[in-house]
Amino acid sequence: MTTGIDYQKIGLKYGVEIHQRLATTRKLFCACPARISADQPIATINRRLRAVAGELGLVDMAAAYEFIRNRTFTYQIFRNETCLVDIDEEPPHSIDPEAVKTVLELALLLKADIPGEIHIMRKTVIDGSNTSGFQRTAIIGLNGVLSYANKKIFIPVIAVEEESAGIVENNGDNVTYRLDRLGIPLVEISTGLLEGLGPKDAVEIAYHLGMLVRSTGKVLRGIGTIRQDVNVSVEGGNRVEIKGVQTLDLIEKAIEYEAQRQLTLKEIKGELKNRGCKLELFEKPQDVTNIFAESKSKFVKKILAENNKIYGFNLSKFGGLLKKELCPGKTFGKELSEHAVAQGVGGITHTDEDLTSYQMDAEMERVKAFLGHELEDCTVIIAGQGEKPLRAGNAVLERCKTALFEIPREVRAANEDGTTKFSRPLPGSSRLYPETDIPPFRITKDLIEETRKHIPETWDRKMARFMKMGLGKDLSEQIIKSEYLNDFESIIKNTGVSAKFVASVLMSAMTELRREGVKVEKINEEKMLEIFKLLEARKIGKEAVNEVLKGVSKYPMQTVEETVSKLGLKTISKEELRAIIKGIVQKNANVVKKDKRSAAKKLMGTVMKQVRGKIDGKIVNEILTDEIKKVK
Ligand SMILES: [Zn+2]
Repeated sequence: MTTGIDYQKIGLKYGVEIHQRLATTRKLFCACPARISADQPIATINRRLRAVAGELGLVDMAAAYEFIRNRTFTYQIFRNETCLVDIDEEPPHSIDPEAVKTVLELALLLKADIPGEIHIMRKTVIDGSNTSGFQRTAIIGLNGVLSYANKKIFIPVIAVEEESAGIVENNGDNVTYRLDRLGIPLVEISTGLLEGLGPKDAVEIAYHLGMLVRSTGKVLRGIGTIRQDVNVSVEGGNRVEIKGVQTLDLIEKAIEYEAQRQLTLKEIKGELKNRGCKLELFEKPQDVTNIFAESKSKFVKKILAENNKIYGFNLSKFGGLLKKELCPGKTFGKELSEHAVAQGVGGITHTDEDLTSYQMDAEMERVKAFLGHELEDCTVIIAGQGEKPLRAGNAVLERCKTALFEIPREVRAANEDGTTKFSRPLPGSSRLYPETDIPPFRITKDLIEETRKHIPETWDRKMARFMKMGLGKDLSEQIIKSEYLNDFESIIKNTGVSAKFVASVLMSAMTELRREGVKVEKINEEKMLEIFKLLEARKIGKEAVNEVLKGVSKYPMQTVEETVSKLGLKTISKEELRAIIKGIVQKNANVVKKDKRSAAKKLMGTVMKQVRGKIDGKIVNEILTDEIKKVK
């Protein structure tokens, strides 16, 4: 994918952040097991949260925004995975030492500075994802460096923090969360603001951070256990945080799209300025429900039947701009609509879109006249219950006012296609303050020395080790990135089979077989090792490996040896081979007698048909030549 954007020229800056759930025994601040429950919840509780002043006495803007939305929260309780700490009825326990040690390993791997004491801090969150209204976090390393492939990326902060409650349902006014997830330890690693790099580099960085975290062997696996965030800005734009980018590939797209989005928003800002748009031209939303009262439009009738109100307002000088595409598939109008949706309405309808299908042209003309719509304007209507359309209208207006001056600093949620949607304003710095309920955790010299002994191998070292085994750079990299890394390591450790051959089987043969439709995922690590052990013991030949892999995927319940005998893939001895060859030579005595020199070539195929995969072709050739010589 190329967007043709010169990222240097537009002053692209971004940071990458990863969150990975740790596989510890207990949660970070209580004794509950750190796992997602397999059971149904046993009860629910309802809460309403409110924004509280941070240490500086300011109500954080992001927090206040959530409060305005006036929502209630329902929390699901699980028998074994929820306790009084999780529902904020008991003070948190001291921090889980196992989680601290794991993150300390990572901080040491990243050559970070380690503080003598770990202090637990509170981060305000008022989207209800934490029953206490804040998330606890603790910095374990500062000023680290991620090194890979001769690159060095600055890692200002390595932290451990508690996972939020998992969202079950969001119906606007009420959000349901599950509390089993709350408090599972997470490691958070973020790069500083990076300049001079393209979106592709971000994928590499996130990949290497993920690899590093996995190398500790203490991470949870599976969907949702790792999350990537990126923050992006361009020259003249503003910092936008994109949360929850699902896959590595999408990181590239998300950065590209956000860069494009900010560039287009800059264009819109310029255009508004050219047209003479100013704050004084904005007017409040007005109730225009009456204009639609007699409407024949099915669309309108349905809205009014649901007891909705309709509010309208004029966006002076905004005509045509709502049609502008910010990034593929996403117009400015759609972005404005998201601000309305966040207030609990279905969206916005405006005169920059084709309204013919709604069949309410006459009503729209009256609304436009009522609001004083002029040629360069865009008129917006919003339907919803009670105060919602008014609140939504105000939210859209606020967003439009900002469009005159800047690209708003905000948090956006990643969609599956690389686009993003507005989620909330970017939290301010009043967001972090000390957690006084939990004592600090001392990091002694002994603990650091002890941890240092266990720190896993870095990517660079692993590369060097694999290349020393005779694998090329590409193949080494391929193995490290592949799902077969553990298989490879275990085979190399436990057999004497050449690393090159093992790598070629795991990379090429497995890929080929998968393409043929063979269910290679049925071959687990143990079976794979068994195959290579048989190979080392010469019970199967190299040539037979593909057939054995096929067989093992087909009969996963059998041992590899059983499968090998069943398929007749067991190697044969030289004696057995000689007997077979003798038989073939005798049968073809005419051919042999006619021309001994070419006979070996002619008969090789016939012999191989019977013994392929069971013995080395070189030995076949030797014995065949020998037997032909013997013919008189
Ligand atoms: Zn608990």
